[in-house]
Formats: sequence, structure tokens, C-alpha cells
Amino acid sequence: MVTLPADKHDQVRRNNLSRILRHLHANGPASRSDLVGLTGLNRSTIGAIVAELADAGLVEERAGTTNTVGRPSLLVTPVATSAVVLSFELRVERLIGSLIGLGGEVLKRIEHPHMRAGFGVRIAVEQIVAMSISLLEHVPDGSAWVGTGISIPGSIETETGRIRLAPNLGWENASLGEPLMQAMSEQFGDPPLVTIRNDSDLGAMSEHLRGAAAGAANMIYISGEIGVGGGVVVDNRLLDGVGGFAGEVGHMVIDPDGPECRCGSFGCWEMFIGLDSVIRATGNDPESVELEEILRHAQQQQASALSGLNSVGRSIGIGIANLVNIFNPEAVVLGGHLRELLPYVEHPVMEMIARALPASRAGVRIVPASIEIGSSLMGAAEAGFEELLADPIGVMSSSSVLIAS
Ligand SMILES: [Zn+2]
Repeated sequence: MVTLPADKHDQVRRNNLSRILRHLHANGPASRSDLVGLTGLNRSTIGAIVAELADAGLVEERAGTTNTVGRPSLLVTPVATSAVVLSFELRVERLIGSLIGLGGEVLKRIEHPHMRAGFGVRIAVEQIVAMSISLLEHVPDGSAWVGTGISIPGSIETETGRIRLAPNLGWENASLGEPLMQAMSEQFGDPPLVTIRNDSDLGAMSEHLRGAAAGAANMIYISGEIGVGGGVVVDNRLLDGVGGFAGEVGHMVIDPDGPECRCGSFGCWEMFIGLDSVIRATGNDPESVELEEILRHAQQQQASALSGLNSVGRSIGIGIANLVNIFNPEAVVLGGHLRELLPYVEHPVMEMIARALPASRAGVRIVPASIEIGSSLMGAAEAGFEELLADPIGVMSSSSVLIAS
């Protein structure tokens, strides 16, 4: 028999706890037999892990049936109210916040519109702290607040939370992580870690984990707001690039003679398929007309709406065809307004994608995002859960994050 040294043993135990909780968090209840089959660990090890997670309040065993076994059995079920995170999606025109329980259960969601102009870091910090106070009022008794995730439409230095460029917010080299952590500490004493990430990367994370591309090892998420961003998953891993800036697909140039982009270049993809550009393409003013109205006009076969959307569809398709050639994904998930647009532009989109290399586009699915509360908002919650999922018992036994009942 081989005996592991104590620290090595601890590491193995922590990895096993992490692996099991991660699976339950992403996939929902599972029987002990399922967990044995999934991990290759033996029954008694699984029993010990489940017992330890149950002692920490993170899981409980409930009677139920799984798809794989006909006979009712006990299912190890993540307890949504045991550990919660706050997640925020900062958009150009609004801040959305949510309280999410373990297993991805939405406990509360609120949103607050703001003026596009003059929305700086200081106001963002104030609003996030204020919204945190409101959301934490809904935390169930005895829950542990284990993390906070923030989605930003810009390029983020992963290590520092520093925003290199968020062109549509007008932020450049803005430090958000530090002042936010400081304000959260002043308000909440010893709050859990705040993680700030790019909105499209977070959208990709959540759609890959539990959304429209669940199970696809290679996928691309494209977020559509005023700007357009992308998150690329290759072999189940989010592509970061050297500085964490990979996936800025909205600034892929599709026409060098096209309109000037907020990034300083010309003819970027988002200048053709970003929300404002879509509205302009149909001959309308984005200041006064909403996308819903244009889609209604398209349903009524109004010529300017149809021809505008046709040209937008071609632009969406050209960009996706380029991405398909480069990454050969199983699924391309469209979020934000691109999700709403998809049924209206499917024909020109698919016509352009048909120009991609046959081998690269074989089997690719172009699908709408499926996470109801918002892919980036849920992705920010996933980022918030990361510390807990990496070390479940360690984080739960840190009393500083426990909310008093
Ligand atoms: Zn650009």
C-alpha cells in the first residue's frame, strides 16, 4: 500500500471535493453511482466526499430518479441557498445585478438604467455597492456570500481587473478593481473576492457550461450590444491570449473603407452589426427607435426594414464565416440583440456561412443564447463561484464570508 504524505493527501482530497461540487453545480443532482461512474473514484471515497460537502451544507441527498437509473435513489443535490454570489453586468446604458445560488439558481435580479454620457468609474463603483446592498437583503438566512463577479464590455487585464479599453463606455486604462474592492470593504467589512472579466468571455463561459453550447468542446459566443464582443472556447478552455484580450471579434475589420470605429480603426465588424448600426441600417435613428419596433416592421414586410436587416444579416454571416474558418467550432452562440435578430436574418447569415471552407463549417450550429437572465450576467456569477468550486471546504470554513442569519 502506498501512503501519501499529509499535504499531498490534502491536495488530492481538495481536488476531489472540487471536482464533485463543480459537476453538481454545472449539471445538477446526481446519484452516488453516477458520481462513481463519472470520476472513477470508488464508492467509499465518493461517500466520504459527499458527507463532507453535506456537513458544509453545500449538498444534501434527496429522493429522486436520474435519467440513467429507473429505480428511485438518493440524489446528491446542490443546495442553492448554501452559498451565493453577486453578479453584475455593466452595460453602456444600464447596470444589471443578480443574486445567484449554488447550482446557478437565480434568487434575485434587478436592473437600473443610467445615462450613457458621463458614466465613469466612480459612479459605477457607487452603483455596484448600492445594488449589492439591495441584493444582499434577499440572501437566505445562513447563506455564505462567497464571491462577486462583474461583467464589463471591454478589454480587461485578468490579473489586476484593470480595464485597458472599454470604447463604448469611454473608459481607457481605468482602474475598477481597486476602488471597487475598497468601497466593498468599507461597506461590508471583509467581503469575498471581486472578479472582473470581459462580458463576452463570461457569456461564453456560461453558455458553454449550462447554456446553448453545453457539451460543445469548441464554441464561440458573440455578444451583441452597442459593441460586439466574442468569447472563444477551444477544447473546453476559454482562449485568453497573452494579456487576456483574445476574442475581440467585434474589431475584426470586414471593410477597411468602412466607417470609423470607436477603437480608432475603420470598418470593424461592430460598425455593421452593433445595435446602433443595425438600427441605422434600416434607416432609423438609434436615439429614438428601439430594435423591437424594427423587428415588428420586418414582420409587417416593410421594405426598408427588410432590406436593412438583409444587409445586416450578410455582415453577421461574413464575420461568422471568418471565425468558422479560423476556429472550426461546433457551435456559434449569438447573444444580446444578435439573438433577437437571428430569426429575421437566418437566410443571409447562412448564405454567407456557406462560403466558409466546407470542412471548417461542417456540422456547425448557429444558435441563440439560451440563458434567460443573460449569458454575461450568469457568467459573472460563475466567475464569482470560482473560489468556492476550487476549494469548497476551505471557503465555507472561512467565517468572514458567512452572512449572519
Ligand atoms: Zn473597432
